[in-house]
Amino acid sequence: MKIDKLIQSFIVPPSQRISLKQDYDPAYKADFLKKEDAQRILQEGIQQLAKYQDTLYAQNTYALLIILQAMDAAGKDSTIKHVMSGINPQGCQVFSFKVPSAEELDHDYLWRYSKALPERGRIGIFNRSYYEEVLVVRVHPEILERQQLPPEAKGKEVWNRRFEEINHFEKYLVSNGIIVLKFFLNVSKEEQKRRFLKRIDQPQKNWKFSFSDVKERGHWDDYMKAYEDVFNHTSTEWAPWYIIPADYKWFTRLAVATVISRQLQSLNLTYPTVNAEHMQELLKAKDALENEK
Ligand code: AMP
Ligand code: MG
Repeated sequence: MKIDKLIQSFIVPPSQRISLKQDYDPAYKADFLKKEDAQRILQEGIQQLAKYQDTLYAQNTYALLIILQAMDAAGKDSTIKHVMSGINPQGCQVFSFKVPSAEELDHDYLWRYSKALPERGRIGIFNRSYYEEVLVVRVHPEILERQQLPPEAKGKEVWNRRFEEINHFEKYLVSNGIIVLKFFLNVSKEEQKRRFLKRIDQPQKNWKFSFSDVKERGHWDDYMKAYEDVFNHTSTEWAPWYIIPADYKWFTRLAVATVISRQLQSLNLTYPTVNAEHMQELLKAKDALENEK
């Protein structure tokens, strides 16, 4: 299937070095997909997802952790809104991670993310994640200084060590039934500018913009370098990265929904079967209800 091949092409191959700039085009959209058809295909994907989520919840064995990372205005929020629109809210949770609080800084760096992991049967979304600990913290070393670390934990090797720790953490999660799906929404610098200008020009979008977003944009190249290093160290067999082209929002949504849906499909989820004893009870209950006075 064309779409499966397409999805495969977004995966960062584990143990292969990639170049973000050369290998991943933010403006890519597949020739065989038309924007006019995207809405219908997305709706079908969302319905599929809802069906799988129902069995995930009933089976109560696996959980799905979806990580969304991106530069500002790449479409994280709107992807969550659209892709999750068909999902039963009882089986889903979203956590958005901001600048850590004083309490959070008093703990190890994975603490606040561990606390927010989805329970079995649920889909949990991280809008930003522990990957910020090797992205924004790397681009702004003064943040690392605020993390109360012992001297041996903040030396030159800190980033490689964190990559290794994150890989182990994810391996542990996956081995215990928490599937980890990681998306980078790859927006171009030019498209970010267009979206920022829109946020300034449209009153309903003003709240989404702050001057600090422009300041962060000034560190674009540092961020791209940090992201590339993240992909080259933390795309693993058990938790690979998907780099999703993000200059066209309709394409981003479709791609993310399809990856999630395919991932759930691959689990071959089934509703729990009822044993003979339980079946007897059901029949007894039916009898009692039908003969109620
Ligand atoms: P928003 O764009 O509204 O999601 O803003 C969240 C802000 O919190 C961004 O500027 C992130 O860089 C920042 N942030 C998220 N996680 C961390 C972290 N672990 N350490 C420092 N800043 C963070
Ligand atoms: Mg922001």
